[in-house]
Amino acid sequence: MPDNSGPIAVLCSGGDSCGMNACVRSVVRTALFHGVEIYGVERGYAGLINGAIERLSARSVSGIINRGGTVIRSARSADFVERGGRVRAAEQLAGHGIASLVVLGGDGSFHGAHFLALEHPSLRVVGVPCTIDNDINGTDLTIGYDTAVNVAMSAIDKIRDTASSHDRLFVVEVMGRHAGHIALEVAVASGAEEVFLPETTEDLDAIAARLSEGRRNGKTSSIVVVAEGETQGNAHDIAAFLQNTTGFEVRVSILGYIQRGGIPTATDRVVASRMGAAAVEVILDGQSGVYVGIENDRITTHPFPFAWEAKKAVDPDRVRVLRMLAI
Ligand code: ATP
Repeated sequence: MPDNSGPIAVLCSGGDSCGMNACVRSVVRTALFHGVEIYGVERGYAGLINGAIERLSARSVSGIINRGGTVIRSARSADFVERGGRVRAAEQLAGHGIASLVVLGGDGSFHGAHFLALEHPSLRVVGVPCTIDNDINGTDLTIGYDTAVNVAMSAIDKIRDTASSHDRLFVVEVMGRHAGHIALEVAVASGAEEVFLPETTEDLDAIAARLSEGRRNGKTSSIVVVAEGETQGNAHDIAAFLQNTTGFEVRVSILGYIQRGGIPTATDRVVASRMGAAAVEVILDGQSGVYVGIENDRITTHPFPFAWEAKKAVDPDRVRVLRMLAI
């Protein structure tokens, strides 16, 4: 029998990601399924501090599983970084008779949730990893990552048409902040010739030589994917180097914010539905100070610090396969 300690609230924090809506829907309906009242907080921790809290019904989340962004809005809050802000947030929850909070967000949001849980042990605080960057340790996938990869892949497919019509080399920058997960996945999925990741140091001359050899072997276009957090230079620096060393006509494309939006993929909707349900059930199990994840297709939980104590590695086998197939 689930331990119903009282109403639950849900909020979205930090950058939005596709699938947040599917997750909110899942949190709301799982709570109601278990007979627990559920509240939505508008605009993340900022809204929580200001008391922007509203009771939700099953119908409040109708027709949102297929929508990007988040209907309860997201925000960043400087006040919540301070202990006083978190005290005001806890007071707002108590004032509404709310005993538990589900936080949808990334690494920063998890830090906030961790401190809230530590400082207010009467609350149950559980996180769901939502960020396009997939940079949270302890989960194979974060909500929004798969859609971002697919959006970037479609964009590169289009760029490839132009690149091959004009014998050009395109350097394409994709999002991911300090993590190369999106860049590597997109590079493999779009058949890119090369990839630059923040986690690895590349031999620039060797890359230029491989690209030139590809041309000699009859390639009419080349795509080089660069992660935005690349430490050997940004997309423009890398493009300038490659133009000088190979003599190719090089163009740069920065994909930017289009990668955050769109229609959530089936994978993101399913992961969001599973994780949202798990978050509520973890609360009903009496846990706090943890986040849910999916590892080897099974739901797992870890204490918040596990998310940032180790950096999630990029898969070297994907790099190997990409280079092997780029001949
Ligand atoms: P994304 O990965 O999309 O950027 P995120 O959750 O990492 O998402 P942040 O802007 O880093 O986004 O954090 C969101 C909010 O979490 C911040 O505005 C702040 O209110 C809170 N937060 C971040 N870091 C801390 C911290 N060290 N202590 C307390 N709260 C924090």
